[in-house]
Amino acid sequence: MDNHNRSQAKKVLKQYFGYDSFREGQEELIESILNGKDTFGIMPTGAGKSICFQVPALIMEGITLVVSPLISLMKDQVEGLNQAGVHAAYLNSSLTAGQYRKALEFAKQGRYKLIYVAPERLDTDLFLEFALYADISMLVIDEAHCVSQWGQDFRPSYLKIVAFIKKLSKRPVISAFTATATREVRDDIIDLLLLQEPKVVTTGFDRPNLYFAVQSPKDKYASMKNFLELHTGQSGIIYCLTRKYVEEIYERLKADGFSVAKYHAGMGDGERKTSQEDFIYSRVEIMVATNAFGMGIDKSDVRFVVHYNMPKNMESYYQEAGRAGRDGEAAECVLFYAGQDVVTNQFFIDHNKDNQELDEITRRIVEERDRDRLRKMTFYCFTNECLRDYMLRYFGEYGSGYCGNCANCLSQFETVDVTEIAESLLGCVQSSGQRFGTNVIVDTVHGANTAKIRNYRMDGNPHYGELSKTPVYKLRKVINHLQLYGYLNVTNDEYAIVKLTEKSASVLSGEERIEMKMAKEQEHPARIKTKKKRKGMAFGDYEFNRQEEELFEKLRMLRTEIAKEEKVPPYIVFSDRTLVHMCIVKPETKGEMLSVTGVGEFKYEKYGERFLDCIAGK
Ligand code: ADP
Ligand code: ZN
Repeated sequence: MDNHNRSQAKKVLKQYFGYDSFREGQEELIESILNGKDTFGIMPTGAGKSICFQVPALIMEGITLVVSPLISLMKDQVEGLNQAGVHAAYLNSSLTAGQYRKALEFAKQGRYKLIYVAPERLDTDLFLEFALYADISMLVIDEAHCVSQWGQDFRPSYLKIVAFIKKLSKRPVISAFTATATREVRDDIIDLLLLQEPKVVTTGFDRPNLYFAVQSPKDKYASMKNFLELHTGQSGIIYCLTRKYVEEIYERLKADGFSVAKYHAGMGDGERKTSQEDFIYSRVEIMVATNAFGMGIDKSDVRFVVHYNMPKNMESYYQEAGRAGRDGEAAECVLFYAGQDVVTNQFFIDHNKDNQELDEITRRIVEERDRDRLRKMTFYCFTNECLRDYMLRYFGEYGSGYCGNCANCLSQFETVDVTEIAESLLGCVQSSGQRFGTNVIVDTVHGANTAKIRNYRMDGNPHYGELSKTPVYKLRKVINHLQLYGYLNVTNDEYAIVKLTEKSASVLSGEERIEMKMAKEQEHPARIKTKKKRKGMAFGDYEFNRQEEELFEKLRMLRTEIAKEEKVPPYIVFSDRTLVHMCIVKPETKGEMLSVTGVGEFKYEKYGERFLDCIAGK
């Protein structure tokens, strides 16, 4: 970036947002925009996309319009900007007709630097009346994947954007942002939005501050409760697959004294809204929800995301888990796996109403793709390799093989010879004519005495009960390992039948031995967790002492008080990261306070002194 632009961008970053340096990708994107080029940023959730258009918006002459799909998202960003001393507004259906007219009036007078607008508004007379005569220097398309039918959140109203641009007398700089990684969607965005030789910047999908773990406990609820007790006072989300689970978990947690709210599509609008706000404003700590909750939730201080059930694919998992730690502080993502989750997800795939309208062939392709995704999600739950690596590879990136911040990298593994188990499982598949799914095979080898096994006459199979002493979870691990490494195949249809492969023969004949990594048995995952209790509030490697912990609590209370006065969520006042940094720096003067990350001029003027007083113990 030329030097002038660069120093100006830095200055704006510090003055309004209180940050000292740009994160990966930000400077490049800002430079491109300031050079007047169409710009396309692909960055994972939490990487800091908003800064990339907010900073140039403040430098450029004229108005920046931001097209955004969700009311909650707009509200959050506009509140954040207003708190930072930037004049911004949103135009969407949450405003009354009177409020809308007034906002447009102010907009015409040039009072706002940034205006967020819902795509549905773009072709309305009232809005056009303003837009056609305004000095619009940039048009930002946030969540740009909404324009693509390949994406998960296609919004037909996004297709209005191009027509809108054409109506403008002068084409503004266009910038688009998304967190969606797949090729089809990226290409679609460039094509459908008619971006002109855009500068495309992709930053890595890795989120190093997130810790990942999978557990398959016998008693999920007990393990989760244990986890939650280690995280009291922190904000977190628990995702469940179904409404029924949400209701059940919500009731149990409430009865056990946790501070919880719930959210699913079966609740009324009003109830959902209250629930969501209770969580965002930190009036309750834990949100129990289906995947209906989250799109557009910008709460940056979510310290953990627990999946009480395994989601349907890695895309969903990474998106949902990614709602943790958006402020860049350490956060945890734990998935509780059970075999039943696979069955439930299969059921969803087989009964997906969205697919009913598709023609037979397309439907089958879509279902196959979904089953394949589900299988890869299941493998995530069973892999002994670095979990982060597994995810990054899934999204087409390369990890280092060892991240040091996931359960697998941190637990002790031993290499175990599982040849005997493998022979038994493969033998059972072979002798039963390759007609059954994994559950039947595992149950047979284990010697389960169930109606299903008797009906299939598997109690007469030569391998029946052969490994009755080996726990079922271990048999499952081995059968998954065999699939993962191609010793078994599962048919890609609703029956998911296990078949032998070319590689099976050498194991069956005793020529090849199978070894795999397994967690050392004496250490139960839940206990490892307790021992390595991770500080929610570490700042890099910095560990808090008692005094600092107390100070942090005091600052948090002050923040809550101010948030109430200002009627904004606490994290809009200051992020956790900012409070943590204050505890470390313990500023005594204005200058020192301004050196704290996230403290800009405007916020300092507003409540910097109250925080100084709090730190001084006044
Ligand atoms: P995204 O839209 O990419 O999901 P956001 O724009 O919401 O991410 O940013 C996530 C968090 O990171 C916000 O709290 C934001 O203030 C913070 N952030 C963004 N850029 C920086 C930076 N350069 N330095 C410090 N924090 C930043
Ligand atoms: Zn790892």
